[in-house]
This record gives sequence, structure tokens and C-alpha cells, in this order.
Amino acid sequence: MTFDYDLFVIGGGSGGVRAARIAASEGGAKVALAEEYRMGGTCVIRGCVPKKIMVFASTYPGAVEDARAYGWDAQIGGFDWTAFRGKLRDELSRLEGLYRKGLQNAGVTIFDSRASIADPHTVRLADGQTVTAKHILIATGGRPFIPDMPHADKVLTSNEIFDLEKLPKSILIVGGGYIASEFACILNGLGVKVTQYYRGAQILRGFDEEARGHISEGMRASGIDISCGTDVLRMEPVDGGMRVTSTMGHEQVFEQVLYATGRVPCTGGLGLEEAGVTLGRNGEVIVDDWSQTSVPSIYAVGDVTNRINLTPVAIREGHAFADTVFRGEKRKADHELVASAVFTQPELGSVGLSEEAARAAGPIEVYSTAFRPMQTLFAGRPDRVMMKLVVCQNTRRVLGCHIVAPNAGEMIQLAAIAIKMGATKEDFDRTVAVHPTMAEELVTLRSPVRTA
Ligand code: NDP
Repeated sequence: MTFDYDLFVIGGGSGGVRAARIAASEGGAKVALAEEYRMGGTCVIRGCVPKKIMVFASTYPGAVEDARAYGWDAQIGGFDWTAFRGKLRDELSRLEGLYRKGLQNAGVTIFDSRASIADPHTVRLADGQTVTAKHILIATGGRPFIPDMPHADKVLTSNEIFDLEKLPKSILIVGGGYIASEFACILNGLGVKVTQYYRGAQILRGFDEEARGHISEGMRASGIDISCGTDVLRMEPVDGGMRVTSTMGHEQVFEQVLYATGRVPCTGGLGLEEAGVTLGRNGEVIVDDWSQTSVPSIYAVGDVTNRINLTPVAIREGHAFADTVFRGEKRKADHELVASAVFTQPELGSVGLSEEAARAAGPIEVYSTAFRPMQTLFAGRPDRVMMKLVVCQNTRRVLGCHIVAPNAGEMIQLAAIAIKMGATKEDFDRTVAVHPTMAEELVTLRSPVRTA
């Protein structure tokens, strides 16, 4: 049987674009890709990239304050959201163009259209046109989830936040995960009065508890009003915003409300189940280690599979898929010891097991330190840095590393290499410190603060 294409990719985000490019340019495959919105996906268009640029924007008031403490006659004026947003849009368009060009250079045919599955080898485009392919890759990502409640249509999600006409004076952020906590810090830095409701006992569930404590302390110290054990009971649009009643009985009007209560896989209306593809409880595409679904010709990578929902993981999954299917190199994406950063202020870098998870797995030693770093100490800021290693008592291997510090994301990337290579605590110890830095503390942690 002959097909129009060797591979048809649905979704032009991180995973889909990588798979398409590798299959076409290195695998010699005839490839098409359909994207209904903008090339680049969540990461480039309304996720990691614009978020990080907003993180940068939000740090300038603090930097100018520090500059004054260092003797500079520095003043900061107001923040021009409209000017910033215009520049941000230009940058995203530039990146989108690069993604498109990368695909075109690799010889990939692009359909700027929604696509769905008609059968295991056929894709239907929005205009009704059908295209056949030997393999189909689902890389449609995820979208924000908002709990069902009255006026849910009037709240913001991370999708809208970059396109606001103006910055609100006050905002309620609901959720305690990556997105809620990052935007609490960004908007606070930009001068918005931020309140954060989180239903659990401490924000950033799943991360090391000590690190979570340091971050929420730092966020509170910078002026964010975090209410844990608190959720929205009801909301009502009023003049000037939304009147919110919390489950603790507190009532307050916020100019805007942002829900960051998780994301769900984009699998609706794709014709997946009709084609025989098995979906999980949350609508995620169930795949094996090679990203193959229950239908042999259909694969899926990235957030739509709800494995580890991070851009670099989606890229690895897309690449491994293309290597396996089109380059004759059978390769699984490695989901072990994936480092990540949470761009809160203070920032978190984390790899491996939290102290709590490691303790449940066997006997451990915990090495941890907290201190005021030189740069902000001199400026008179109370900021504290935390460095922590979780070590297996039996093998001496470092099982987890958790850093709460400026640029913790940069630090954890390097620590992750050593930990991925199986470094022991003694390997860290025999590495000579780089002085004076914050990261040198990682190689000078002498005695465990506790064993468990
Ligand atoms: P998360 O799953 O991290 O957090 C969701 C939050 O919403 C949790 O605090 C959760 O509470 C809460 N929540 C869920 N449902 C409800 C509800 N019905 N009512 C009230 N609260 C609720 O999701 P995010 O949206 O923050 O981020 C999605 C994913 O995107 C992340 O998991 C991450 O993989 C990725 N991401 C990564 C970033 C990075 O690497 N820096 C940045 C942004 C996103 P509870 O803890 O109790 O479940």
C-alpha cells in the first residue's frame, strides 16, 4: 500500500517539530505536519519562553533597589506593559518563524490547519481533505484545566496572561503548582498585588519539603499573600473585578482571577478512540516505552501522553521516536533523573528524589545548608539560599539535589550531569570548590544534618 506521507505529525510544538525534523532530515522520510494555531506550541507561544522573559522583566525593580544599596544613584520608573507586550510579541513571532523555517528546510510539508484521525493511516484536515500516512504522530500537547464552577468563563489562565490589555492592580491566583507559583512571583515583581490560594498545606507539592518551605517563605517575604488550605468557594463578577469568597470565609474583590489548577491532554475531538487508540483516565494517550499507542501505526509524544510534562522531555521523546521508526536506531526516551527548575523568586532547581521520597526507599543521609548569599546580603536583603543533597547510606550515591537560589536552574543543570553519572557524596567532596560562589556549598557539605 502506498501512502501520501511516511509520517504525519499532528501538533507543531516541541515534541512534534523535533520528530518531524529528524524523520525528514536524518531519516529520509516524507513528512507532513499540521498545526492549528501557531508553530512552536505551548513552550514558545504561551509557556516557557514568554514566561521566562516576564521573569526577567519582573526582577528589575529588585535589581535597581540593590544597585542603590551598592552605591548607585539609580531610580526605577513605571513599567510600560504595552511596550513590553509589543516586544514580547515580536520575539515570539521571530521564534515561531524559526520553527517554521526549520521544518521547511528539512523538507516537511506544513498544513496550517486542525487535523484529526480518520483511521489508523488517514488524517482529516479541517477543510475535509484527507491525507494518508504510514505513521501518525500525536503531539497535540495539553491545555489549562479550570474546575467547573459558576463564572469559570471569566477567569484567566496562563493562555491569556501574556495578552492582557493592561496589568491588573490586584490578582487572585488559584493553585500551588509550577504555573501558579511562577506567576505569583512574576506579577508581584511587576507591581501587581498578588494573593495565592492553594488547597493543600504547602505550595509546590511533589518537590522536596524543605525547599518548598524556603520558597514560600521567600515569596511571602517579597509581599505575596499565600493562603494555604484555602480554595475558592464562590465568585461573583462585580464592578472592578471579581468578588471571591474563600473556603475560609474570607471575602475580597480582585481585579482579575487566574486559575493555574493543572493542565489536561488535548485529545478531545481527534478521533483517537474511534480509531482504537487507548486513552487514560485523564484523556492522555497511553503509550509504551517507544511512544507507540495501542494502534501500531499511531505514536504519541509530549504532554498529550502525560508522562513528564516538560519541553526537553517532549523533545527527547520526539527524537527517540524518529530515531526508532525512521533511522533504524531503536531508542527509548530516558525518563530517569530529569532535572527541572521552577522560576519562582527565589528559584528552585531540583533533580532526583526529594528527602521524603528517598526516605521511603531506604536509609539516607541528608546534607543541607541555608545561608544569606554575599550579593544580596551586602545589599541588605534577607534572602536565603538553600542547598541540599540526599545521599543513599548504602551506595553513597547522591539520590537528589535541591537548590533554592538565584539562578538555581543554571546550577541544577550541571549538578544533574554528575548525579546522572552516578556520583557519590565522596565524588562531590573531592571536587574542589569554586570560590566565592554559592554553588561551592555543594562540595563543602561536611556532616549530615540528619539520617533516616
Ligand atoms: P501542576 O499540576 O503543577 O499544579 C496544579 C495545581 O493546581 C496544584 O497545586 C493542584 O493542587 C491545584 N489544583 C488542581 N485541581 C484543582 C482544583 N480542582 N481546585 C483547586 N486547586 C486545584 O500544574 P500547573 O498548571 O502549574 O503546570 C502544569 C505542568 O506544566 C506542570 O506539572 C509542569 O510539568 C509544567 N510546567 C513546567 C514549568 C517549568 O518547568 N518551570 C513551568 C510551568 C509548567 P494539588 O497539589 O493539591 O493537586
